[in-house]
Amino acid sequence: MGSGKDAFMNTLPYRQTKIIFTIGPATNNVEMLSKLLRKGVDVCRLNMAHADHEWTRTAIENVREACRVVGRKVALMMDVKGPEIRTGPLDEPMELERDETFDFLLTPEAPAVTTGIRAVRVNYPSLKNDVGEGDTILVDSGLMRLRVEKVMEDRIRCSVRIGGQLGSRRHINLPGVHVNLPALTMKDRADVECGIELGIDFFALSFVRSGDDLDILRRFIEERGSKAQIIAKIEDQSAISNLDEIIQASDGLMVARGDLGIEIPFETLPLVQHRAVRACQRMGKPVIVATHMLESMISNPLPTRAEITDISNAILEQADCIMLSGETTVGKYPEECVEVMNRVIFSVESQSERTINTELPLKTPKSLLLRSAVTLSDELPHSSIIVFTRSGFLARTLSALRPLKSPIFAFTDVEPVFQNLLLYWGVEPFLMDFKDEDPEQTIQDAFARLRSRGWVESRNHAVVISNVLAGSKVIDTIQYRTIP
Ligand code: PEP
Repeated sequence: MGSGKDAFMNTLPYRQTKIIFTIGPATNNVEMLSKLLRKGVDVCRLNMAHADHEWTRTAIENVREACRVVGRKVALMMDVKGPEIRTGPLDEPMELERDETFDFLLTPEAPAVTTGIRAVRVNYPSLKNDVGEGDTILVDSGLMRLRVEKVMEDRIRCSVRIGGQLGSRRHINLPGVHVNLPALTMKDRADVECGIELGIDFFALSFVRSGDDLDILRRFIEERGSKAQIIAKIEDQSAISNLDEIIQASDGLMVARGDLGIEIPFETLPLVQHRAVRACQRMGKPVIVATHMLESMISNPLPTRAEITDISNAILEQADCIMLSGETTVGKYPEECVEVMNRVIFSVESQSERTINTELPLKTPKSLLLRSAVTLSDELPHSSIIVFTRSGFLARTLSALRPLKSPIFAFTDVEPVFQNLLLYWGVEPFLMDFKDEDPEQTIQDAFARLRSRGWVESRNHAVVISNVLAGSKVIDTIQYRTIP
């Protein structure tokens, strides 16, 4: 195989682990987005917890313009907020003192100060039905900790266990409490409708608690004619308890370590991550490891050693994607963050010792055929797997098999399939017209495309997976070929 260069991507070699970045004020302009694209980001995430529709439209226009400028595409992921509880607005931040009694107000009519007790509103009036005496309320990513002392009709009375500065609209976590908010709030529905109109490829749903939550979103997007895939964000204890059914009902998983690390004891987070990644691989679904991967680079130009090791760990676990959040929304060094991820990916992937995924249940002869293709290609020097797919199934299964060293070049003539495949481990997708009446010409076109972009060289080996016409019948085949 050649140097693996894509003429559109300057010097970016082939890699298996994909990079997701979150767009925000630091990156929402064509110039910066073009830089990130040239560095090789694969998926752009829009976090609807912080975005309105006008901002979203402009951001997507900018991303598409940058794609045109650079000649490379990225997939678009809309992260919808889900059932999130927040404190209300404050004119001035409040300093919560340890042992102070403090109220969370449930109705707009509830008086804010009673007998000298300070208070803040929350956006969830039914909180009184979900929490009880002794429960913990965490505010602002767990920075402040309160204990529920009394549940009243119009307020939750608490004592402050760990104080801190309370600003406006801070996020509330309730570890171990089942919150009865709907999986898809009115805001989420409006956001998803906007996302469908704008051609979003993936919807990531926050605080997924069961497979049913995902079914609700799936029905919602299918009724509106979207083919977008659904990523389940696991962020609390119920998601961990229902992990398998959540993976089953989703198209992929995000280990959302920001909230997860607050909702569960933080010392259990590494094992939960490991378990979630393994479960996805067993079930053949892609998995994203997210949050705080390069947190220190929000303000520093270089990563900490621990961050490099965290990224390496996700790559060694064979996560499909690693994700940047604050680093690219508000950070000072977004381009450098992608560069760091690239460097760690190349270093770790080139040295890691592993086997193909033997746990994947291969239920059909077609799936078994794919495993044979992977084994064959991996045993040949300078070989790649070239697959032609209209639904994406073949490429997704090949990715789930985790070939040892063979790149998966996936050709499709269906744009949404091309966009979805950008997220999958090891898959380099190509959008190309198929010549249905002449499958051999389609294969030759793919060879030419790969060669012209430097992905393969003449006389390299290739294992080609495609349909061929035999008389009037279409037959699935794997073929051994050499690149002409
Ligand atoms: C997280 O909690 O890790 C996460 C990715 O979600 P958000 O950024 O929406 O808080």
